[in-house]
Amino acid sequence: MEKFIAIKHFIRALYPNKEIIPLHEPLFVGNELKYLKECIETNFVSSVGPFVDRFENMIEEYTGAKKAVVCVSGTNALHIALLLAGVERGDEVITQPLTFVATANAIAYCGANPVFVDVSKKTLGMDPDKLEDYLIKNTSISKGYCINKISGKRIKVCVPMHTFGHPVEIEAINDICIRFHMELIEDAAESLGSKYKNRHTGTFGKFGILSFNGNKTVTTGGGGMILTNNVKLGEMAKHLTTQAKTHHPWEYIHDEIGYNYRMPNINAALGCAQLENIDANLKKSREIADKYKKFFESINISFFSESENCFSNYWLNAIFLKDRTERDAFLEYTNSHGVRTRPAWRLMNKLSMFQNCLTGDISNANQIEDTLVNLPSSIPGKL
Ligand SMILES: *Cc1c(COP(=O)(O)O)cnc(C)c1O
Repeated sequence: MEKFIAIKHFIRALYPNKEIIPLHEPLFVGNELKYLKECIETNFVSSVGPFVDRFENMIEEYTGAKKAVVCVSGTNALHIALLLAGVERGDEVITQPLTFVATANAIAYCGANPVFVDVSKKTLGMDPDKLEDYLIKNTSISKGYCINKISGKRIKVCVPMHTFGHPVEIEAINDICIRFHMELIEDAAESLGSKYKNRHTGTFGKFGILSFNGNKTVTTGGGGMILTNNVKLGEMAKHLTTQAKTHHPWEYIHDEIGYNYRMPNINAALGCAQLENIDANLKKSREIADKYKKFFESINISFFSESENCFSNYWLNAIFLKDRTERDAFLEYTNSHGVRTRPAWRLMNKLSMFQNCLTGDISNANQIEDTLVNLPSSIPGKL
């Protein structure tokens, strides 16, 4: 209990003058209002407008992806990426049990089933050793496809997620995907600004996706982005997200079933303004993480730090408590004192809609679910 009180005081000092300290709130200190005003004054508020292209170009430049395609949400972005990677009804897609539900939902939108393999304690994202173990034990290659011997289904794609912004061991995972004939899609929804060996997360696989939801590092209110280094696939993604409309000055002709997933100009305007400040904000996020790290070291509580080769945006800071009992007591104490902490997501394989999906050994994920707590991680107005 003494430790809980000390932690509460420390967090209150990080975020002074706040009655309720949120887990993660957006920061608008740049050109947000100016750009929004521009949208309204020029009547470009919907899904065509200069900020849409500008935002895509800014993300391409920032991440190094050859093509970036805006969507109305990260979940949509993942849906389109999965479709273009060839996921069809009845297929399987490997992902991790410790993730936000959007990852598994997007797989289900394609009529495919997620298969859950464990995460690593070092990165909190997919564990390449566990992935390899699962594939060696349970799959065989037939006609160029990775076939799950348990279900008889094709495993087309693997979707690791960079948990709380911390990069996974993406090179090792990519090598395994190549060996087992699977496409790699990175769920980089939480990791804008995070790099593995100095290369931006989301740019290693066939596709990567970002989210700009209200609580993410950069927000557009709601929004997402598809990243790819294959320009042709990028154009196909653009086509699918805009109702598959063919180019013609006045005729409305659509050449396949498309989606209305294109981000409106007003959201993109917000994104442009936000992205202008990302470097300064990343620096502040990493300073907060550093303060947390030093503090938790001083009271002997384990704080999660980026692993080797990784540069993390520290989107959500995390500590590990002793067990579920201590975790629950801490959540109860902090939340009833205005400090918004929260547990890890309930593991995907325990949610009713995914409880019958195949699962490897997920002992790490179980342990993390029992002990991890996320801490308030917004950027204070000033440090
Ligand atoms: C936020 C998030 C998404 C996408 O969420 P949207 O709200 O649809 O933008 C996808 N995966 C993970 C892991 C996320 O955290």
